[in-house]
Amino acid sequence: MLTAEIIAIGSELLTPEKTDTNSLWLTEKLNEIGIEVMLKTIVGDDELRLLETIKDALHRSKIVILTGGLGPTEDDITRQVAAKAVERELVFRQELEAELRVRFRRWGREMPEINKRQAFVIDGAEVLPNPNGSAVGMLFEHDETYLIVLPGPPRENQPMFTDFVLPVLQKQVGEVVVRRRILRVSGMGESAVDSAIAPIYKTYESVRTAILFNKTEVEVHLYSKAETAEQADAVLAELVEKIAEALGVAVFTTDGETMEQVIGRMLKERGKTVSVAESCTGGLIGRRITEVPGSSAYFIEGCVTYANEAKIRTLNVPRETLESFGAVSAETAEAMAKGMLERSGTDYAVSVTGIAGPDGGSEEKPVGTVFVGYADSRGTKSLKLVLPGDRYLIRWRASQAALDYLRRQMLKH
Ligand code: AMP
Ligand code: MG
Repeated sequence: MLTAEIIAIGSELLTPEKTDTNSLWLTEKLNEIGIEVMLKTIVGDDELRLLETIKDALHRSKIVILTGGLGPTEDDITRQVAAKAVERELVFRQELEAELRVRFRRWGREMPEINKRQAFVIDGAEVLPNPNGSAVGMLFEHDETYLIVLPGPPRENQPMFTDFVLPVLQKQVGEVVVRRRILRVSGMGESAVDSAIAPIYKTYESVRTAILFNKTEVEVHLYSKAETAEQADAVLAELVEKIAEALGVAVFTTDGETMEQVIGRMLKERGKTVSVAESCTGGLIGRRITEVPGSSAYFIEGCVTYANEAKIRTLNVPRETLESFGAVSAETAEAMAKGMLERSGTDYAVSVTGIAGPDGGSEEKPVGTVFVGYADSRGTKSLKLVLPGDRYLIRWRASQAALDYLRRQMLKH
């Protein structure tokens, strides 16, 4: 398989002020044609370090892409350093200088002499035109190794890459199509997911599998490579089915949907409505449900009842429940859901009460203790969780647990 590496050049990219986004965009485009990016480097405007980096890259990778440092000023050194790395001269191209002069005249200016530097290219390299700026790119091929040099600004290098580099690389890899599916899993950890499905995905050689964890769920990314989209999709469909069967109800999407989209779709399909009563999530559940366009079809209302008095006044939670079991308890969570259901007249109500920290924990109820409540016409239920993480993560995970609880209840009936 062809592999690539990317070198982003520019001292500003090492500071918090400016992020290297070129490598991300390029990686996406390369992946789409079946080329994997194995390494990326950010190098400041330093000749020696850049030279070493490019030379090392050319030793280990068939495709090396440089971005940035093609400007006319002293700090832009990519052109001469790249030439040195492949032991070629920079040659002056009369026609490039002429084009630059025309370009400047169009802006009503004379070309500054320093811009003449941009008319020099690596001897033997193909020149990649730049309709959006003054720096041309270069594509240099040697022993089936490609050194590709692109300007830094995304609006210049993206069309250049798409129009002049992709077709060349596409020819190298042949007709390869890569298709992706994303499964999302709730209520299971990363290693549990992996041990359940590794024996399955390891038997699929044309599929690359990545398992990653984000703040609320585990994601399984599957990249399937084949000669046609239909073939790639067929392999994916088969693998997805096996993985979904192995993980069962924990899989909430096999098509990359978010939890709130899944909840919305399920409520719509069932013609049901929901309301939420929140304490420690402070409105996050309501916010997530209403992120989805069209959520007014099924979301009726949400309450943020933080203080005990609010739980009593707004949700009719009995004072005795709060006094005997505490605000963070199964009894309170269920009373909140019940109160919300009665107040709103929805088909379902979910609630959350918990300790997001960093203070407020105890031996019996440590930080991260969360109760999720649920109510429908049949009655109430609840679930106790002890969630890991800081305040931010606990709140997000509590919101996810509540949505997932609602999802699982809907699946049961
Ligand atoms: P340069 O080609 O080094 O003169 O860079 C010109 C401009 O392109 C910089 O000021 C940045 O705004 C932008 N740029 C350069 N490299 C990157 C990168 N890796 N990601 C995003 N923007 C970049
Ligand atoms: Mg620069």
